[in-house]
Amino acid sequence: MTRERIGIAGLGLIGGSLALALSRRGGAEVWGYDRRREYARMAVDAGAIARACTEREIAACGVVVVCVPVLGSVAVIRRIGGRMRPGSVLTDAGSVKGDVVRAGQAAMAPGAEFVGGHPIAGTENSGYPAAFPGLFKGRTVILTPSAENSEAALRRVEALWRRAGARVLRMDARTHDHVFAYVSHLPHAVAYALVHSVATLDSRVPLGYSAGGFRDFTRIASSNPEMWKDIVLQNREEVLRAARHYRRNFALLEGLIRRRDAAGLLSYFRKAKKTRDGL
Ligand code: NAD
Repeated sequence: MTRERIGIAGLGLIGGSLALALSRRGGAEVWGYDRRREYARMAVDAGAIARACTEREIAACGVVVVCVPVLGSVAVIRRIGGRMRPGSVLTDAGSVKGDVVRAGQAAMAPGAEFVGGHPIAGTENSGYPAAFPGLFKGRTVILTPSAENSEAALRRVEALWRRAGARVLRMDARTHDHVFAYVSHLPHAVAYALVHSVATLDSRVPLGYSAGGFRDFTRIASSNPEMWKDIVLQNREEVLRAARHYRRNFALLEGLIRRRDAAGLLSYFRKAKKTRDGL
């Protein structure tokens, strides 16, 4: 049996980790490339990819996973998708799905399919040096199938992520972007804004005193600014809707504090704690 050839476009944290996981597991030949040549070199040296190829060459793989930053991914998907062979599958790892899935479907060569994907895994670090093979172990990957996808194509992408140690769920792209605006994009925006509000105070707040609260809450504000700029722009409408909803809830809390409404505050905090404890 010939081994499936898997191509990875973009060998940063996500692409590099996927390459490491798949090559360690065996059973597939992994090709890859990155705009930064040194990342491809490092991936070859580590045995993460069998071959450093070009963007043009990667279209010859049976399955190609695009792992470049979301705003750039649409252009990459268009170029690779148009060159893929019948029976092959193009997928991605982007954190926002609507635009990417629409572009992917329109871009594919006859007989090839695009399947949207999003691994719920990551760290605050980026680039190939941050990659590690266990990144997807026990984590969830969401696939966002469309009516145009065959079950066979979906299963191939599912099998790939399972080989990397993940479990796979399916969700339509619209629901995905709505859900992740609340559970991921809004929290990152709020964390960035909170750090910003302390950083821009006139009085110097000695951050050395920041123990649990500030540190725990703002850990995700150390995430890659480039990536988060892309994500909030690509999911702009949903993020703005979530931000409005958050402001209403925050205003409610402000009102309770202003009115010294102890019972109201207790109920507000208890309700939130119950939800959080249930995670
Ligand atoms: P990263 O910055 O670590 O890696 C991106 C890589 O793509 C870099 O090595 C960069 O040189 C390369 N690149 C950029 N443009 C390219 C191009 N045109 N052609 C080839 N290579 C190119 O970012 P990452 O964290 O690996 O994120 C990659 C994708 O995965 C993004 O779409 C992101 O939304 C998604 N994602 C990230 C996380 C996370 O927490 N980091 C989680 C889930 C999904």
